[in-house]
Parts: sequence; C-alpha cells; structure tokens
Amino acid sequence: MVGPPPQDTATRLIGIIFGPPGSGKGTQAARIEAEFKLKHLSTGEILRAEVARGTPIGKEAGRIMAAGDLVPDELIVDIVRGRLPEAEAGAGVLLDGFPRTLRQAQALDAMLAEEGHRVDLVIALEVPEADLIERLLRRAEVEGRADDTRKAITERMHEYHKLTEAVLDHYARQGVALERIDGTGTPDQVFDRIRKAVPSSLAGEGAPGRKGPGRVGADAS
Ligand code: ADP
Repeated sequence: MVGPPPQDTATRLIGIIFGPPGSGKGTQAARIEAEFKLKHLSTGEILRAEVARGTPIGKEAGRIMAAGDLVPDELIVDIVRGRLPEAEAGAGVLLDGFPRTLRQAQALDAMLAEEGHRVDLVIALEVPEADLIERLLRRAEVEGRADDTRKAITERMHEYHKLTEAVLDHYARQGVALERIDGTGTPDQVFDRIRKAVPSSLAGEGAPGRKGPGRVGADAS
C-alpha cells in the first residue's frame, strides 16, 4: 500500500499523543506544545472544563467519565469538529485523548482531509500497568480527580486496551510514523526521549510517501 497523500505544507504537523491513563500524556503534551509550537487539544481537559461549568455537555459527560467509561463518539467528534479548524490554522496540532476509538479516528481523518491534511505522527507512551495504577492512585490523593478511583482506573485501562490500541493499528496500517516512547522515569527523561524521536520521524523515516523534511519548530522556514 502506498502512504497517505502529502500535506499541503511541509511545516504543518498533525500529531497524536497516545498512552494509557497515568502514562503522563498531559504532562508531555504541554511540553511538546511549548517546544514544537503546536496547538494542544486535550478532549479530557475540554470535558473536565464542561463538567466544571455545568454545561449540558458537562452534565451528560460527567457521570460517564466518573465511571471511567468513554463518552459517546458523536459528542466527542462534535467537540473536536468545533475546535479543529482554528487549531489547524497554526503551525500544527497535537491531539491528546482523541481519537480513542476507530470511529473517532475515521471521523478525524475525514475532517482533516477536508483541509488537505492528515495525521503525520503518532507518539505512544508505554508504561507498565503496575506503575500506572500506582501513579494514578497517588494523583488521586493530590488532585482528587473524580475518575481516579481504583474501580474507574481499572475500567479506563480496560477501555484503553480494548479500543484505543485499534486506533494505533489503524494509523500504523496507513504508514503514519509511529514512535513508541518509554514513559517510565522522570518527566524530563521522557521528554528527552520524545525530543530525540520526533525530528527523525518528521524527516521521513517510517513514513513512506512523505514529501519534504516536514520539520516544525523555531528553525522551520
Ligand atoms: P486518561 O487518559 O487519564 O483517562 P483523559 O483526560 O484523556 O484521561 O480522559 C478522561 C475521560 O474523559 C475518559 O476516561 C473519558 O471518559 C473521557 N474522554 C476523553 N476523551 C475522550 C474521547 N476521545 N472519547 C471518549 N471519551 C473521552
């Protein structure tokens, strides 16, 4: 199979950061956003803000999230559809927590295709499950997130393995550059690994059919 069609511009990057609950996605996404000047779009953060504001979306999503289940695809796709165009207008986008199901991935691909874009890079953080549970229970004591209970954590891990790994396969089959990053250690160590991995993926390794260097960042011109 031939790779996906080239982007309309060599410098725009559409990336996705994947990882099971507690893998440090949010922490690393914030660093990637700052270093690579990407717009960070976290569906979990957007939903938590809706819950906090008590909006109709928040009311629908709040209970589902607290149980560790996924909110309906239509709701989440509508949220992303409303925010993606503005995010796409910049140097690039880093999606965090989306797409989480095959249907969401297909909806995302269609939205991006309307603008002549596609997913260029997938970063997958990998952390052993025992470490994840320990991190989440520790976070529960500090932040008190409603879904950081042992029961909801188990459900979120289950959802991740059941649905989200299919999304990884979906992009791997398309020939999108997939960087598996060891997510153990300190946030600095993990970010260092990401920093080393990202430019080489953008340089075209592992992405057949890619056009141009496609680098992003301060030196992209
Ligand atoms: P985590 O990876 O720690 O579970 P997130 O902040 O990404 O945290 O998501 C928290 C919760 O928000 C999820 O358990 C789910 O209920 C909901 N959620 C976030 N993104 C999506 C999505 N793309 N599809 C369905 N539900 C989502």
